[in-house]
Formats: sequence, C-alpha cells, structure tokens
Amino acid sequence: MRIGDNRQRAITSWLFVCALFALCCVLGVLQYRWITEVSETARYRLRESLQTSLTRASNDFDSAIGAACAALRPSAADSAQTLENELVSRYRRWKSTTRRPTLFQRLAVAVPGQDSVSLLTLDLNMDVLTPSEWPPEWRGIRDRIEANFAARLQPEHGATGHRPGPDGAWGPPAGPGEHQNSDGFAFEEPIFASAGDFGRGRFGQRETGWVVYELNQRTLTDILLPDILRRDLNTTSGLEYQVEVTTKTSPPSVLYQTAHSEDVAEKADAQISLFRPRDNPAFRRGGRDRGPGPPRGPSPDSGRWQMFVRHRAGSLDAVVAQSRMRSLAVTGGVLLLMLATAVALLRYTRSAQKLAHLQMDFVAGVSHELRTPLTVIHTAGYNLQGKLAHNPAQVEKYGALIQRESGRLGELVEQVLQFASANAGRILKEREPLSVESVIDETMEANRAVIDSCHCVVEKTVDPGLPPILGDSKALRQVFENLLCNAAKYGSQGGNWIGIFASKPGGQASSDIEIRVSDRGPGIPLEEQQHIFDPFYRGARAVQDQIHGTGLGLSLVKKIVEAHGGSIQVKSEPMKGAEFIVRLPAAPAGAVG
Ligand code: ADP
Repeated sequence: MRIGDNRQRAITSWLFVCALFALCCVLGVLQYRWITEVSETARYRLRESLQTSLTRASNDFDSAIGAACAALRPSAADSAQTLENELVSRYRRWKSTTRRPTLFQRLAVAVPGQDSVSLLTLDLNMDVLTPSEWPPEWRGIRDRIEANFAARLQPEHGATGHRPGPDGAWGPPAGPGEHQNSDGFAFEEPIFASAGDFGRGRFGQRETGWVVYELNQRTLTDILLPDILRRDLNTTSGLEYQVEVTTKTSPPSVLYQTAHSEDVAEKADAQISLFRPRDNPAFRRGGRDRGPGPPRGPSPDSGRWQMFVRHRAGSLDAVVAQSRMRSLAVTGGVLLLMLATAVALLRYTRSAQKLAHLQMDFVAGVSHELRTPLTVIHTAGYNLQGKLAHNPAQVEKYGALIQRESGRLGELVEQVLQFASANAGRILKEREPLSVESVIDETMEANRAVIDSCHCVVEKTVDPGLPPILGDSKALRQVFENLLCNAAKYGSQGGNWIGIFASKPGGQASSDIEIRVSDRGPGIPLEEQQHIFDPFYRGARAVQDQIHGTGLGLSLVKKIVEAHGGSIQVKSEPMKGAEFIVRLPAAPAGAVG
C-alpha cells in the first residue's frame, strides 16, 4: 500500500516538474520573441533619435553662424559708401555684445567700380576699412563676384544676374555634388539696393556690393561645435557618442574629433552635412531652425563638411545587442530560478516526507525494542512472585533474565540519548592518547556474551608499533562495539567469522590508522549502502527478519568517527560479507606524554 502510494506520489511529482519545465520553455520562447521585437524597435528608435539630434546639431551650427552674419549684414545699401559705413558700425556693435568675438577671421566688402570690383578689408582691431588685394584663397569668391559684375555690363544678360532664389539663397545655385570647397572658411553675400530702388535701371534689382566673411577655424571647432554637440548630442557627461568632422575635400581632412575616436567615419552610426553658408536658409534668416516637429535636415550633397557619429560601445547595433543579451540573460535566469525553486521545493518536500517515515519507523522500532524486554521482565517478575520463589535455581535463572533484559533496555535508552546529544553537538567528552589495540580488546571483552551467543570466531590482527590515537575512549569503544555487534547480528548467518584488523595503510609515512571490521554474512545490497549511515535507517532484511535494532547505530558511529577527524566507509558484495573501514588520525607527537 505504502509502496504504491510512494510511486504515485513520485509520478505526480515528476509530472509536475515536467509540466513546469514545458511551461518554462514556452515562456522562454515567447520572451525570446518579444525581446527580439522590442530590440528591433529600440534599434529603429535609437537611429531615428540620433538622426534627429544630428539634424538639430547641423541646423544649430549653421544658425549660429547665420545669426552672426545677420548681425553684421547691412540691411540695404543704396551706395557703396553706406554699405561700408554700416558694416563698420554693425561690426563694432556685434563685437561688444557677442559671446564669440573671435568667430570671424577676416571681413571685407567688395564694391563694384566703373569696370572692376575692388576689395576693402576691415581691420578687426581698428574697425576701419582699407583697400586691399584679393587674397589667393578667395579666388572662388572673386570669380563669382566678377562673373556677376561682368553679366551686369552685358545688357542682354543683365536681367539674369544672380539674385536671391525663392528660398532666399544667394549666389549661383549649387548643383548636386557641387561644393564650394575651395572657399574653405570664407563665403560672400550680396547686398542689394533698398526696396525703393528695386526695378530701377538696366539690371533690375542690383547688388550695391558684397560682404565677404571668413570664419576662424579654431573658434568653430574648439568653441562653437563642442557647445552644440554638448547641447544636442549630450556628449559631456557620459560621452555617449564619438564624433568626427571632416571636410568634403578629397582627401578629406579632419577638423574635429572627440577623444579616442579613431575610424569613426568608416563605421559611423549616422552622418550629416554641416556648414552650408551658400544654400542653407537658416544662414540667411540668421535664426534657429527650431519649429514644431522634427527639424528638417540638409540634403546629403549640401554643406562643406561632413559630421560622422558613432556610439561609444562600437555601434548602435552593439548597444542594442548588448541590452538584448542582458534581457535574455535576466529572463533565462528568472526561468531557471523558477525551475530550480520548484525542484528544490519538491526535493525538500520529499526529504521531509522521508524523514517523517523514518521517524515513524523509529518510533515503531523503539516501541518494539522496548516491548520485548519489558514483556520478559514482566513475565519473570510474575513467575518469581508465585511458587518459583521458593526454587533457588529458578530464582537465579529469572534474576539473570531480568538483569540481561534490563541491560538491553538501558543500552537502548543510552543509544537514543546519545543520538540526541550527538545532534546537539556534544558527541565527544575528554580526549586522551589511546592505544588502538587496547580499545579493541576492551570492546571485545565487554561484548563477549553477544559474540558467544552467535557462535562467532573473532580473528584479531593488530600491526605492531601502531601509534596512539587522540580520542574519547568511551565513544570509540561504542564505535567498535556497534560494528562488532552488527557483524554478529547480520553477518553470523554466513561463516560465523568476524575479523578485526588494525594497520597503518601507507606505512610509516602515513599519519592515519585504519581499523577494518569484516564479516562473511550476506552483505549489504548496493542500493542500501548509501543509506545505512542515515539516522533511523534499517535495511530490508533487518526489518523482514525482525532483527533487533533502532537504525541509529551506524549514524552514531559515523558522527563519532568524524568528530575525531576520521572517516568511515563500507565495502560489500552480495553474499560475500561486509567490511567497514574506519580511518582515524594518529595522535600528534606533542600530544603524547
Ligand atoms: P540497526 O542495526 O539498529 O538496524 P545500524 O545503524 O547499526 O542500525 O545499521 C543500519 C543497517 O545497516 C542495518 O539495519 C542493516 O540493514 C545494515 N547493516 C549494518 N551492518 C551490517 C552488516 N555487518 N551486514 C549486513 N548489514 C548490515
């Protein structure tokens, strides 16, 4: 009945574990899919938000330069004289209010004369305009202005002179891929006559002159760009992104780089054009391009520079992959934890059930062990009260019986008490140097009656010169008594032979002493060998043949041996007897008086 119950319980437990495992697998697969989908969305969002930030940074950069140009730009000049005067006075005003007074490296006005355009350069310290030669690096600007001026002198082309386009851009329109890279940091802006002047004369709306701006590279790359990146890409605190800005020339030259930013251009997460003096409306408006909704970015062909951005982790894909792996690891961990908890709970419940069964067996066993001597004592006492009281031979016989059975009772109680104190950690008392041989002899002598009752022959071999051991003599006697009595109880059915051997296994070099107690009985089945040292455990044959015992003996033996720093193991094969091997450390040299 109990075996059937146990099997059913085991099957239910395993079914529960299997169901839980299947559930964990399903959850794992679902979670894996969700995490993959979420990662894809995160990757898309990160890219979008990075591109938006870059567009904002590009627009902010151009707007900042545009704002400075707008502050300097004469509004409308009807003559070259007013154009020059206004530029000087605007420059003075701008210099006294700006946060970046070194933004411009050179400022000049180009004014058309009778048959050529002459250049006046502003002395940025003295604030005065002086006639000067065209610098060679402004060749592109000079060519454009002179082409414009030449077109003005030809009546048939005059009406097609360069004017602001519909978006407010000026100069010849830049075709796709056509960049004015040769201008470097300089660009020009035409200044037209006032509105009242519009349409007057042969050329329609005509230029009074051109302002030429040349920006200071150091201010752009060391002050303006870092400021904008800090604001739009948040590269200060965590330095999330590595940034590289290069010219669009071939080969490109690096203008700006954040620390440790090698090969950013090759493996960039995103890139954008930057510095569009000739085709960015923000320049012309001189304001911030921050309307509602995401900022509109420059076309990929516009701009003189290119900004490349890469995440510090290597790439945005790497960041997403890392966070995906983390999520998967956490999910896997949680599922494993769930599974482990269920298995642990199951094992705990099963071992608690096993313990409860063992305790029931123990109570039953102890009750049985108590009942037999108590019945014998009770019957003997009854008999002694009657006629037998006058028969001295019978009195002696029953007296001896009472003495033997009460001795067994005492032993039983002693074993239970010892088990209780062993569990409370008080297994050993005083330890002293002991001779192994004398402990064995004393044990054999004390258990002579048991050995004789099962007609056993005891073969004792103790190697000469064994060192003493440091131990509790009473506890050690109990160890050998238990092993001897078990050999007599369970092993006498075979050869009625018990062997006790004491030796030093590794010769003189070893510090251990080995004591083996053997019998030639039926042995211990393999599946029982791992349990015989558990408290309350009794072998199937012991229960079946009703051999006296509580199942506490070997567990106490193990505890005592281990408390001495030793070990115990069993060797047994069916029908070839059993051998218990006890190893105890020899007493240290200093401990022997
Ligand atoms: P008890 O002897 O009271 O049952 P023990 O703890 O001393 O308890 O032994 C536990 C079990 O180990 C025994 O019930 C028996 O099945 C088995 N056992 C111990 N010694 C031997 C032996 N020498 N031969 C066969 N079986 C043994």
